[in-house]
Amino acid sequence: MEISKELTDAINEQINFEMYSGYVYLSMATWFEEQNLDGMAHWMKIQAKEEYEHAMRFWKHITDRGGKVTLKAIKAPKTEWESAYEAWDDAYNHELTVSKLIFDIGEIADKEGDRAAGSMLQWFYDEQIEEEEQTMKVRDLLKIIGDSTNALFMLDGRLRRRGT
Ligand code: MG
Repeated sequence: MEISKELTDAINEQINFEMYSGYVYLSMATWFEEQNLDGMAHWMKIQAKEEYEHAMRFWKHITDRGGKVTLKAIKAPKTEWESAYEAWDDAYNHELTVSKLIFDIGEIADKEGDRAAGSMLQWFYDEQIEEEEQTMKVRDLLKIIGDSTNALFMLDGRLRRRGT
């Protein structure tokens, strides 16, 4: 079944949003480096790579099904945060937005009875649970940590160990 125009357009928008997500995390990475929170910067850089992979996964779905990928301008991300907590809270809220956008694509796929797209999207539904959970957890830990510099650097060290 050839992919529809409506679904192709929606997935192209999502490719753009995944690339933007990568930009958001790179922007956070550079801000964390400035704060000497190198573990958090490291985590964000790995996350940015993951966002690129998400974009490519959507890309492959379009091209494998005879559609055309159309790249658009990537919006500039925010560059300053008040605190590590605020940055991670933004990251969590960003992932909630991503989940909503992917569910919206799912609505189109369901309406069209496009099970191939549904199957591809299933991977993202599962992935988004993880994305939300990881960012929420760090955000919530930072809330507990409050003004404790020791605890902040311990958490930073833990995030430094992220492999992929
Ligand atoms: Mg993503």
